Amino acid sequence: MIYIKTDAEVELLREANQLVSKTLAEVAAHIRPGVTTRQLDTIAEEFIRDHGALPGFKGYAGFPNTLCTSVNDEVVHGIPSDYELRDGDIISVDCGVILNGWNGDSAYTFAVGDVKPEVLRLMEYTRASLEAGAREAIAGNRVGDISHAVQTKAESGGYSVVRTLVGHGIGKHLHEGPEVPNYGKRGSGTRLDRNLVICIEPMINMGTKNTRVQSDGWTVRTGDGKPSAHYEYAVAVREGKPDLLTTFEYIEEVLIKR
Ligand code: MG
Ligand code: MG
Repeated sequence: MIYIKTDAEVELLREANQLVSKTLAEVAAHIRPGVTTRQLDTIAEEFIRDHGALPGFKGYAGFPNTLCTSVNDEVVHGIPSDYELRDGDIISVDCGVILNGWNGDSAYTFAVGDVKPEVLRLMEYTRASLEAGAREAIAGNRVGDISHAVQTKAESGGYSVVRTLVGHGIGKHLHEGPEVPNYGKRGSGTRLDRNLVICIEPMINMGTKNTRVQSDGWTVRTGDGKPSAHYEYAVAVREGKPDLLTTFEYIEEVLIKR
């Protein structure tokens, strides 16, 4: 179902998504070689509960944790564990909260220590593909305009776009309509109306676009073992320019000090 929000509801969604942004910054401050993904998960859960919210993913469709932590060739939906981050890893941290009944959802891919230049380039292109997609989230455009912009940017770097997972509407439910694929044709798909709120979340692979689900039933990996990156914004569709409900500024303040 697609639910167009009122202006007041967009502000409630902004509060939820700002809390996700701050939670990811709290996680960012603890990312280093030797930390376990379970420790990051605990930090996030405590931070969210301390701010009067609930972890949005924990228990969602049976997912066991607060964060999805996806390392290197893991695309998304990695389950926090005793795995200790190593120098040279990259990790996508995806976080959801429920604040006053409204969902926030955002993801950021972090470098752990010294990451190979070709992997940093994958991260840069993935981030740029998100920004390119978000610029199209304006009233009167269609979902395909976002999809096309993401795909064009990612493929211009020589990368492939994951097809098996897509972005989504967000509101009282974590996943609402419409689906927001990261590939597609300009001018196609659902029309973007003012105050539609969507999550745009490119998952971009260095090698094959194909993915497989690990035997835990959750972790999605690349088909060839090459790395994947993932960034996600919640965006309210507005006239003329998109209204980003997510900000990466808190994360980047933390990263710049390191
Ligand atoms: Mg999402
Ligand atoms: Mg997410």
